[in-house]
Amino acid sequence: MLASTNRGKLEEYRALAESGMLDRLVEIVLPGELASHGRPMPEVPEESLDLRVNAAAKARAAAAAFGLVAVADDTGLEVDALGGAPGPRAARWAGPDATDADRIRLLLERLRGVPVSRRTARFRCAVAVAEPPAGPSTPGRVWVREAALEGQIALAPRGDRGFGYDPLFVVPGLGKTFAELSREEKNQVSHRARAWRAAEPLLVRLIVAPESPETLPPPFEG
Ligand code: IMP
Repeated sequence: MLASTNRGKLEEYRALAESGMLDRLVEIVLPGELASHGRPMPEVPEESLDLRVNAAAKARAAAAAFGLVAVADDTGLEVDALGGAPGPRAARWAGPDATDADRIRLLLERLRGVPVSRRTARFRCAVAVAEPPAGPSTPGRVWVREAALEGQIALAPRGDRGFGYDPLFVVPGLGKTFAELSREEKNQVSHRARAWRAAEPLLVRLIVAPESPETLPPPFEG
């Protein structure tokens, strides 16, 4: 399951899972789609400035609440001309109730007058994979894989696909924003896709071959 409420992320993960090592072996669901379990996704505040810690906390909480292998990600957008802002707080940067459109407006406002050559930025993504706890006193383990994608912030929004800051993030070499790419094209290059591909072998072992846990790498301790 995906420990998130973000349908944009869900669609990307579904396409990634279908096109990779897991093929159609798993179905990725949101907590809200598991109504039969009768429990909502536990609230997990993203308190850390370390994306790995936030992703691990969300995945752990979901795996424990639902008894399923859980995936979560935490993503940050670092804009060099803003000293790395919005950074790990990219979701709340424009205020707690802000929409994607508000965040885009604020980012463009803060970058007003900054020339194209100085609008460099990167998306960082940490993907966490958590196993359900084996028992009440045996917490499940969690693994985290990270990736980043360098790009630039456009002078104005372009494209209507994707979500979040996608209309402003210009992918190097393509000259297009994420929002001008199809989901498959975004998944060829994105920060999330790279982190997912790095995490995929773990998922395969946890879901397809859980009987061989000794082959798993050391879990994340943060
Ligand atoms: P979080 O990982 O849900 O905390 O995301 C932080 C912020 O970055 C939110 O405003 C998201 O909408 C945005 N965001 C996360 N991933 C992406 C992406 O792949 N493209 C554009 N914006 C994103």
